[in-house]
Amino acid sequence: MREQHPIIAERFRDLHPPFAPQAAVVEANRCLNCFDAPCTAACPTHIDVPKFIKKIASGNLNGSARTILDANVLGASCSRVCPVDVLCEGACVMNHHNEQPIEIGRLQRFAMDAFHARGGKLTKKFEGRREGKVACIGAGPASLACAAELAQQGFAVTVFERRPLPGGLNTYGVAEYKLPAWSSLREIELIEELGVEFRFGVEIDAEKLAEIERDFDFVFIGVGLGAGHGLKVPGGDHSGVVDALGFIAAYKTAKITHTAGKVAVIGAGNTAIDAANAALRLGAEEVSIVYRRKRESMSAFEFEYEHAKQEGARFLWQTMPVRVSADGGMLEFLDCTRVDDALRPVAGSEFSLACDLIITAVGQSPLVELLESLKGVALDKGRVVVEPRTGQTTNPKYFAGGDCVNGGREVVDAVADGKRAAIAMVHELEAAYV
Ligand SMILES: Cc1cc2nc3c(=O)[nH]c(=O)nc-3n(C[C@H](O)[C@H](O)[C@H](O)COP(=O)(O)OP(=O)(O)OC[C@H]3O[C@@H](n4cnc5c(N)ncnc54)[C@H](O)[C@@H]3O)c2cc1C
Ligand code: SF4
Repeated sequence: MREQHPIIAERFRDLHPPFAPQAAVVEANRCLNCFDAPCTAACPTHIDVPKFIKKIASGNLNGSARTILDANVLGASCSRVCPVDVLCEGACVMNHHNEQPIEIGRLQRFAMDAFHARGGKLTKKFEGRREGKVACIGAGPASLACAAELAQQGFAVTVFERRPLPGGLNTYGVAEYKLPAWSSLREIELIEELGVEFRFGVEIDAEKLAEIERDFDFVFIGVGLGAGHGLKVPGGDHSGVVDALGFIAAYKTAKITHTAGKVAVIGAGNTAIDAANAALRLGAEEVSIVYRRKRESMSAFEFEYEHAKQEGARFLWQTMPVRVSADGGMLEFLDCTRVDDALRPVAGSEFSLACDLIITAVGQSPLVELLESLKGVALDKGRVVVEPRTGQTTNPKYFAGGDCVNGGREVVDAVADGKRAAIAMVHELEAAYV
């Protein structure tokens, strides 16, 4: 995964190509340097956007990257994956003047690409080692941001991850044409160089948690969400019905490089769109997105919907699967019915959709078993309850952030959560080890 498979590289080229240097400076010079910077306020990690853009305009690319990294240690991946239309760029004042908003995400990528190309390193905020040890469970964006801040502040951090590589969904889930896995891993190498210890292939359960609790001052829970919900119709357990997250991880790790025939994707969130686009780029002949509600109710962002249409996906609204039909081992049809606004089947509307593969993308469930084993940590509908300013749970030894707290949002939200929890832990550790 540190090198892209040639077929994957060819089929998942950058959706938004990087700026050429001249074009970046021209774009940076369009920025009005607003005093109140609504873009900074709209960014969950509050990057000083006008400041980093001004530094691009004046040719100080290193300073620009440092401004970004001060606020967001995963500034490179966020520059590629953030839904900027609803965050920083959506808040840009240019929108009120009927002008294109400043391309903040692409400018951020320009500064971060230059930083990585030059072999830039993360800087320490405290020289030397301090007493105090923290364990982070999971190596996704939330834990990585937490671990980086603690290590920069001089504390010892160990990250426990069940997968063989770090990054969580940044490495295994985000569409390859936005963020290739190698790019996610390159960014994380800088966090490793800060002295963070990573232990891979370690699945934390109640027993291991008890040990960790004994050995560490604080524990950060950044485990994200669990497996996707299955397809609960007769035949839904057929081997030709696969979970979107597994399908996406399989192509990102080049375990699959080709998809043949007709594909049905169940659900209409961002994950469904990513799976549908991936199937098309991998060679599927036809991809239908099957959704039981109307278009207005789909949870995918508008720009993701437009993108899927451009890629060639077709949408079947107010359509509900009722049965999976197979001929022996071979998948044949997804039998569907049309439904009304109250999701009641419309009589006589049943039809069969020919398909060779069904991908389910109907939401992920929380990792309830693990979370329930955290003693004294309150949950609400499977989400970890935290104090919003610190990320501390109802058990003061535990902090949490990212998808396991917010139920599934964006990478930049997980980064903000991880850093916030680390800062709160630093205050407590400084008080404990005076
Ligand atoms: C298909 C898909 C596409 C997405 N695309 C985008 C996008 O384009 N832009 C965007 O901003 N956001 C996107 N997101 C959302 C984003 O990826 C998440 O919000 C973000 O990754 C959450 O970070 P996290 O650290 O909370 O969890 P995760 O990234 O899920 O990381 C959790 C980590 O914990 C590990 N773990 C879990 N349980 C254990 C255990 N018991 N022991 C040890 N390790 C454990 C997991 O293996 C994983 O590595 C996407 C999500 C999905 C599903
Ligand atoms: S991190 Fe994301 S939301 Fe924040 S300024 Fe950068 S691109 Fe915009």
